Amino acid sequence: MINSISKAFARLNVKVLVLVCLSAIIPTIIISVVIDITYLNRSIQSECENLYTKSEVLSKQIITSGYLDDQSDVTMETRLDELAQLIDGRVILVTSSLRVVYDSYSLVKGKIFLWENVTKSAAGEELAHYDSEGGIITTTIPVTVYEEGSDETKVVGVLLASGTYTYIKDNLDHLIAIEAILLLMITVLSIVVGSIVGSSFSLPIREASKQFDRGIKGDEIGEIDATGYEEIEGLSHRFNTYVSKMETIDKSRQEFVSNVSHELKTPLASMKVLADSLVGMGDAPIELYQEFMNDITNEIDRETGIIEDLLAMVRMDKSGVSLNIKTVNINELTEQILKRLRPIAEKAQIELVLESFRPINAEVDEVKLSLAISNLIENGIKYNNPGGYVHISLNSDHQYFYIKVEDSGMGIPKESLDMIFERFYRVDKSHSREIGGTGLGLAITHMAVIMHNGEIMVDSIVDEGTTFDVRIPLTHIEGERS
Ligand code: ADP
Repeated sequence: MINSISKAFARLNVKVLVLVCLSAIIPTIIISVVIDITYLNRSIQSECENLYTKSEVLSKQIITSGYLDDQSDVTMETRLDELAQLIDGRVILVTSSLRVVYDSYSLVKGKIFLWENVTKSAAGEELAHYDSEGGIITTTIPVTVYEEGSDETKVVGVLLASGTYTYIKDNLDHLIAIEAILLLMITVLSIVVGSIVGSSFSLPIREASKQFDRGIKGDEIGEIDATGYEEIEGLSHRFNTYVSKMETIDKSRQEFVSNVSHELKTPLASMKVLADSLVGMGDAPIELYQEFMNDITNEIDRETGIIEDLLAMVRMDKSGVSLNIKTVNINELTEQILKRLRPIAEKAQIELVLESFRPINAEVDEVKLSLAISNLIENGIKYNNPGGYVHISLNSDHQYFYIKVEDSGMGIPKESLDMIFERFYRVDKSHSREIGGTGLGLAITHMAVIMHNGEIMVDSIVDEGTTFDVRIPLTHIEGERS
């Protein structure tokens, strides 16, 4: 129940309806209450002033007639009676010692009149009291005389006048009834207006939802063109961009999978052909066996190389993979890599030269960075000619360190430069295979550099050589990766 109510409130049209109703009803209630209070206060105040004026006139006459001391004056008594009739209520006159000398109801005459307001008026205050039940206003004023030989006055009695004003309450009730009808009308009107506005607000959104539903039919995701609000158009545009990005990712994933399976199958297929030929030949000479087994070993090495590269890449590709950052001496790291690669270079008759311009200590992931540098140097050796060279230079400034790997090899054609960092891309497939390339080395290098918030650039001239420039910040800032 509560769930379905909160579900209904989550809908835009219901929200608009509630908002319209509240914005009409709340001000109406506030205005009505203000009008009622103002009316009540103004009416009471005006009647009080009236009573005060009349009481004050009488109080002066009471003093001149000396009625407080001697009640034999019939004229004064008549005036007090007249006031009581005029206000349709009761008039009481008490002395300063609160003894009643006149009561138009003749109920308490001669008694002591103890009422808070009378006591206060005996001390000099003018007071009024409204009894909302009976619609009765009671004023009490002090009856004063000037003290002999001074400007000071003293209280000699209190005049209480209590009138009936039921019309105030009747008018108020009438007013409240009108306001209630008005409120009812406004509520009905705001429900109607709120429903119309609410559904017209939510219409474009409902239309957009239909468009999305149409767009996402089954497994297919098509372009959508939702209109109505600028926000919805923006949403539909972003949805289309998202879909096209997802399609690109999906395409590259499919390509990757088919490339991987192709690359893994090729050495296996070669091995199978070699093994089948040997089996088929039966009594082949031992030299042929040795040659074929040698070829099979090469294919196994190749398969192992591909799997190792793939694993290295998958490890880096995992989203959110964290780097194991430590302060590493880049000069020492490069020297270690060169030590490992020197035998390979010597075998290929390539000269390896390291030039360190300054000592560099940087915050890097040692394993990933050494993989990146190794790949660049290995390529420099692999795609080179006997007698060639690979120059490695290390430098830094206050912010970055720079690794340059320059070779005198075969170079890369201009049109291939943009693609060499793609997975499985090889400029010359057959040559690269011969050399033992998987097409993953530069993709791994690129990933590792990006993970370090760095940049890699390549410059190459065919038949002259290739230069890779890597720039990596000395200090690693987590989360800056783009
Ligand atoms: P591979 O395992 O094939 O070397 P890479 O990703 O390392 O894969 O390189 C991609 C392709 O770029 C290589 O196949 C090669 O054609 C070309 N390439 C990379 N480095 C060099 C280089 N130093 N000189 C010439 N060609 C290169």
